[in-house]
Order: sequence, then C-alpha cells, then structure tokens
Amino acid sequence: MKKTTIALLAMLASAAAPAATPWQKITQPIPGTTQSIGSFSNGCIVGAEPLPLQSDTYQVMRTDQRRFFGHPDLVQFIQRLGNRAGQHGLGTMLIGDMGMPAGGRFNSGHASHQIGLDVDIFLQLPRTRWTSAQLLKPQALDLVSADGKRVVASRWSPQIGQLVKLAAEDQEVTRIFVNPAIKQRLCEDAGSDRDWLRKVRPWFQHRAHMHVRLRCPAGSLECQDQPAPPPGDGCGAELQSWFEPPKPGTVKPGKKQPPPLPASCQALLDEHKL
Ligand SMILES: [Zn+2]
Repeated sequence: MKKTTIALLAMLASAAAPAATPWQKITQPIPGTTQSIGSFSNGCIVGAEPLPLQSDTYQVMRTDQRRFFGHPDLVQFIQRLGNRAGQHGLGTMLIGDMGMPAGGRFNSGHASHQIGLDVDIFLQLPRTRWTSAQLLKPQALDLVSADGKRVVASRWSPQIGQLVKLAAEDQEVTRIFVNPAIKQRLCEDAGSDRDWLRKVRPWFQHRAHMHVRLRCPAGSLECQDQPAPPPGDGCGAELQSWFEPPKPGTVKPGKKQPPPLPASCQALLDEHKL
C-alpha cells in the first residue's frame, strides 16, 4: 500500500471515531460515599471501586481501557460469581467492560454501563488461563449462527448455560441480556427449574457475552431502577417475536438525542471543569 493511502486511511479512521465524552477524561473514581446516580443509560457514579485485577477465578480483559470500575456491590458480585463458577468447575470467567472511574457515557459501544452496576462477561470459560496478550486483544466467540436463528452447537457448552443460571440466581441481579438465539437455547435446556429464566432478556447483539445488571443499591437514593421483567420464563411468544421480521411501521426510529444529565452528575462535570 502506498504511504499516501495509509495516511488517508489513518485520517479516515480518526475522523470516524466519535469525540471523547467528558467522562472519559476522568481517570480516577470521584472520592466520596458511594452513590450510583441516574439511570443505567444516563448517569454517573461517585465512590466507584476498581475490580481487583488479580484473581484465581476470573481474568479481566482490555485493562488498558480502564473500564473495570463499578459500585462495590458490582465488584462483590463478580467475585461471588467467580467463586461459584470455580466451585462448579466451570473454567475461568472472562470479565469485559464494567464502567469508567466516574461512570458516565462512552463515545461509542455502550448505551448503558453508566452507573457502576453493569458488567459484560464473555460466554466462554477457558480451561487454561489466557495470556496477557490474549486478554488485551480478546477473541470473542460468536455463539450465534449467521442467520441469527440458533446457537452454533459446536461452540456451545453446558458450562455456558450454568454460568448464566448462576448469575441469574444471584439475588442482586435484575436482568441479564443475551442474544435471542442464546435465550432460546437456555429455554430448551432448562427443564423444570425455570424461574431464573425470567431475568434473562433477549436483546440485540450480545452474541459472545452476557450483560449482567444489578438492582439499585439501597444507599443510592438518586439511582433509577427499572421495573421487574414481566412474569414468566419469557420463553414463549415474546421470545418468538424476536425471530420474526419487524411488522411494517414498527421500524425503530433513528438515534435520539441523549436526555439531560442528572443534576448531580452535571455538577460533578462542572466541578472538574469538563
Ligand atoms: Zn454490556
């Protein structure tokens, strides 16, 4: 490739990257009594903690991105889930994005993960721990067929199902987002013990990881929880609707403008002159 072409490509790449949000400039947690403020998709966090990077039961991916911060409840949940996965001999848990040191909006990728209560966990459980090079450039394992209708059987393992179930059975977890094809597989395999499936919600993408969300912590008075998922295991008509073409006139509208920040989060930005 000619140098000019490379330069042009570099220019295009930088032009394509959306501008950094002010939250990305905050490199350390905001000191203070821990508070998750606002909603999962529009908020921030004071007093976040880093997830310890050394663990026997999990490994943290892409630590260079510094997205391993969250409410202490989230940190404890990950440690608890790692221990349970270890007790069941499931393999090493691979932890993806939690939140930034003060939470807040990302320039691309996530809409939520803003108040320290969301974490992405890979749906693969290696028997051999990953090297630091593998952790920095993780290879996602796409579990879903190209047509989006089913899980690729050769990539699935019962341990993946067990991990989702263990997470869903945790008292503090309110929702787990996975691809509809993954939810379908969990529905098929579940047998008579099905209550936990209620928390497992079909969502776009999420083909290689689950996104786990915790309830608002008791002491976070400005945290906006979501209503509980509808009753039932969610394996029937609602799930099937994800596999049908959208009805005319129901096409999703384009990107909405983000709502204004909660006042307490705006005040933090003002204080830091961001
Ligand atoms: Zn996520």
